[in-house]
Amino acid sequence: MNILMLGVGGFIGSNLAAHLLANSDHVIAGIDDNDEKIADIQHERFTFIPGDVRRIGDKVDDLVRWADVVVDLIAYANPSIYITRPLDVVNLNLFQNLELIDRCIKHRKRLVQFSTSEVYGLSEGRRKPFSEDETNLVMGPVKKQRWIYASAKELLERIIYAHGQQDGLDFTIIRPFNFVGPKFDYLVGPGALGGPRVFSHFMSALLTGGPMQLVDGGHAHRSYTHIDDASRAIQLIIDRPSACHQEILNIGSPQNGATVRELAHLMLDLYRELTGKSSEAKLVDIAGTSFYGEGYEDCDWRIPDIRKLEALGWQPRINLRDTFRSTMAWYLDRIDSADELPSYLRAEAVSLA
Ligand code: NAD
Ligand code: UDP
Repeated sequence: MNILMLGVGGFIGSNLAAHLLANSDHVIAGIDDNDEKIADIQHERFTFIPGDVRRIGDKVDDLVRWADVVVDLIAYANPSIYITRPLDVVNLNLFQNLELIDRCIKHRKRLVQFSTSEVYGLSEGRRKPFSEDETNLVMGPVKKQRWIYASAKELLERIIYAHGQQDGLDFTIIRPFNFVGPKFDYLVGPGALGGPRVFSHFMSALLTGGPMQLVDGGHAHRSYTHIDDASRAIQLIIDRPSACHQEILNIGSPQNGATVRELAHLMLDLYRELTGKSSEAKLVDIAGTSFYGEGYEDCDWRIPDIRKLEALGWQPRINLRDTFRSTMAWYLDRIDSADELPSYLRAEAVSLA
C-alpha cells in the first residue's frame, strides 16, 4: 500500500514510520517541515519530502493522487500554543485540513485523520471511560482559550463525518490518549514554563535537577499509552479499511491511568532505578495560569473506552511503569552515547511556546 504521511517528522509520525517500515511492506512518502526526528530513517520504501504543507499544495495534490491512504498528523499539539497562538491553532489544525479533505474527495482516497482525546473535554465528575459514539463532548468557556484546540478538532471531525455522509469520503478518525515514547516533543531548561507535554518537562527536570512543576497540584488524571502499542493500533487501522470505514476510534491504555503527581513520583523512582542515583529534582506546585497563561483550564480526568479497537483484535500490552521505564531508558541511552545531540534532546535550551 502507498501511504502519504503528513507530519511524519513529529513524535507519532517518526515512530509510526519506523514501525510500518519494520512490520509491513507499505511504501511511505512523508512530508514535514522538520526532519530531525526522521534523520535516522534510511529505507528504500521511505521518501521524505521537506516542506510546509501550506506552501506546497501542488506537491501534496500529486502525492494524494499517488497514495492509497493519507495519514494526517499535522497539528499544533502543545497546550501552551493553544493559549499563546490560538488563531494559528485554528488555521493549521482546522482550515488547512479542509484543503486536504477536498483533495481526498477529488482523488477518492482514504483519509486517516488524527484528532484528539481532548475532544471529550471536561469529565464533570463522570468516571466512565470515554466512548467514541456515546460520550458527550464538553468544552469549557470561550474565555478559556485552551479549548480552542479541542473545539477545532471537534469541528474538523464533524466536517469529515459530514463529507462521509454527503460525498462518500472514506475516512477513519483517531483519538489518541496521551501517547508516550522516544522522540517526544523536546527537552527544556530548568523551570521552563509552557512548552512541551508533561513527559518532556519531567524528563528535563530529572536530567537538569530543575523543579518538576505540578500544575494546579498535579491532580489531573490521564491514561498514558506507549507509542509502540499505539503504532500497532494505527497499523491495524491502516490495514483494515473496510472495518474502520467512517469510524472514530480511541487509541489508549485504560489500565495506565495516573494523576500527574503520581506520574512525577513514578519518574523519580524510575530515574533512581535506571541510573543508580537520585535526581535533585523537587516537586513544586504551580498555578495552571502561571504555567501556561490566563486562558488555561485543565481536563480533569480522561480514560478511553477501547471496545471498538478490541473488537478488531488490538489490546495494549505495555503497562504504565514499563511505558515510562523504556521511554526514560531511551532518553538516558541517547543522551549518554551521542557526540552531538539533536536540538530536541538538549535540555539546556529553555523553550517557551
Ligand atoms: P508533533 O508536534 O510531534 O507532530 C506534528 C508534526 O507536524 C511536526 O513534526 C511538525 O513539524 C509538523 N508540522 C506542523 N506544521 C506543519 C506544516 N505547516 N507543514 C509541514 N509540517 C508541519 O505532534 P504528535 O504528538 O506527533 O501528534 C500528531 C497528531 O496527533 C496531531 O494531530 C495531534 O493533535 C494528535 N494527538 C497527539 C497526541 C499524543 O499523545 N501525542 C494526543 C492527542 C492528539
Ligand atoms: N503538567 C504538569 N507539569 C508540567 C507539564 C504538564 O503538571 O510540567 C500537567 C498538565 O497541566 C496536564 C497534564 O500534565 O494536567 C498533562 O499535560 P500534557 O500537556 O502532557 O497533555 P494534555 O493536557 O494535552 O493531556
